[in-house]
Amino acid sequence: MVGVWGLVTRPLVRRWKWWRQPRWWNDSDLPWEVPDAVGKGPMAVCNICHWAGAEFLGTEHVESAMCPRCGSVARDRFLLFCFFNCSPHDSSMRVLETSPRLGREYRRMMRSLFRYTSSDFDLSAHRGDIRIDLQDIALPDSSVDVLLTPHVLEHVPDTDRALREIHRVLAPDGAMYLQIPLQQGVTARPTEPEFHGDNTPVHFRFGWDLIASLETAGFDVEVLVMEEFAKVLRGENPCPEPEVDGFDIPSMIEHAPTAKLRPIVDIYMSKIYGFRPEHQFVTFRCVKR
Ligand SMILES: [Zn+2]
Repeated sequence: MVGVWGLVTRPLVRRWKWWRQPRWWNDSDLPWEVPDAVGKGPMAVCNICHWAGAEFLGTEHVESAMCPRCGSVARDRFLLFCFFNCSPHDSSMRVLETSPRLGREYRRMMRSLFRYTSSDFDLSAHRGDIRIDLQDIALPDSSVDVLLTPHVLEHVPDTDRALREIHRVLAPDGAMYLQIPLQQGVTARPTEPEFHGDNTPVHFRFGWDLIASLETAGFDVEVLVMEEFAKVLRGENPCPEPEVDGFDIPSMIEHAPTAKLRPIVDIYMSKIYGFRPEHQFVTFRCVKR
């Protein structure tokens, strides 16, 4: 029989137990460590939450291959892989991420590791700690050490203005990890109105010439790619069979910035982390000069 006191306390105890349950980010090794499961059998391992299993959810695609534990899709994992493998792991670093796709648990993990802030343009499609318009960033000069910006720049009307603003707010030697859906060799505007999942218009379909804009804005640029795809872009491996996925690989090969490529994941690890097909994964590492 439950007395009045029990009626009051039991829900609280239940809630407390729920609150006390370890979250995946609390339960995992540090996300820059190679997960224990790698090389021990499971064919899919998440480099963010260290989940391991037979396969990711969905198809092999940069926007799919979802981790059933943390909800990351392949491009989320690649962005973090690039950041964790190319920047120091320093808890004093001021990390800003524009419109992160992942939610509360991911952000708690990032806050436990860095001085982390998330932002969004208008807080409509994504939640964020602060609002930021990349063309007019309401932050002081040199106030950010690392900027993670996944799939945002193509939605900004004035690319050069945004890059100048990003350069201003980054600290000396600060780095931006920039992801855009690079599907062709040369930048063009969409021929028809194009929207992504959050109903924000796409202003540009970027190509490799984005690198020239980044350099003009004052960045040293490296292009982080799969080892296999670097060989394709350098002409060492044949062009993969055309896929019906919107990626113009011949054009990407024709205009490839071969001197700036930095292969960062080999074929074995790209399969384990779900970075497939390899031509869909490009992250620009842009260091402020
Ligand atoms: Zn995960």
